[in-house]
Amino acid sequence: MKIITIFSGKGGTGKTTVASCLAVMLSREKNIAVADCDVDAPNFGLSLGLKEKDYSSFIKIRASEKAELIKEKCTGCKKCLNVCSFNAIKWDKKNNIPIFDNLLCEGCGTCGIVCPENVIKLRKVENATISVGNAYGFGIVSGQLKMGESGSGRIVMEVKRKAMEIARKENAELILVDSAAGIGCPVIASINGSDYVIAVTEPTPSALSDLKRGLKIVNHFGIPCGIVINKYDLNKGFSNKIEVFAAKNKIKILGKIPYGKEFVDALVNLKPAVVYNKRFEQLFKKIMDNIKVFYKN
Ligand code: SF4
Ligand code: SF4
Repeated sequence: MKIITIFSGKGGTGKTTVASCLAVMLSREKNIAVADCDVDAPNFGLSLGLKEKDYSSFIKIRASEKAELIKEKCTGCKKCLNVCSFNAIKWDKKNNIPIFDNLLCEGCGTCGIVCPENVIKLRKVENATISVGNAYGFGIVSGQLKMGESGSGRIVMEVKRKAMEIARKENAELILVDSAAGIGCPVIASINGSDYVIAVTEPTPSALSDLKRGLKIVNHFGIPCGIVINKYDLNKGFSNKIEVFAAKNKIKILGKIPYGKEFVDALVNLKPAVVYNKRFEQLFKKIMDNIKVFYKN
């Protein structure tokens, strides 16, 4: 089974638009499954018109820990009060005990270490939901982090594990991963283990700068990659700069997508652009041809 991950160094480059179009096009050639690993803002299903009621199962994930006090055993010594780097510990004057703010607590365990009475424990809490759905004939696994929760990297691993399970069940030969943007934990967890990475960028200085940072992660894992320049015609001069950068670093330009209001219309109508207007198929066919060697066998 092959894994192709689509990522972008910065948000707003059109990563999910590219992912949804490639998913629909690839699914016409192969059995595929999709892992939406943008766990802070999972929009892949939405871009295909999937609504909550269209998902068949929801799995609660407990991959985060929070401090919890055994109140009756606390002596009120206050040794824990100022040790939290996340400012998650307040003092309850009335009851003479610490209070832990669940939104701020990162579950580091420091307060438990300094407590002489050993009355602060870490308990596992639910921090995400994984949803399983189907659209255009392929399975979609989507992870959503709960508000204020941490542990996005671990959630991504869970989403990928579930996508693999579904892919095996449905005899899929390819998993397409829609990664988060940036260079944080969820991106690293998305890219790790991929057979190929597609980096989506746009012709702006910030996008190129973030692309370079993101590609350092890809290079760290030694994964082959290529670049898609979205909205390339909005700044042809800068697109050229990206092409020069790519050539210098021996990275293939997989495709260049022009700016078009119809891409926005497709998003508004919750349809992949290649379904909204068939003339876009050719653009994505070219990208597929360029990565054929990585997904064909
Ligand atoms: S576990 Fe860590 S983050 Fe949470 S309250 Fe204790 S010291 Fe703060
Ligand atoms: S260090 Fe332990 S015993 Fe002391 S106030 Fe904090 S929780 Fe209570």
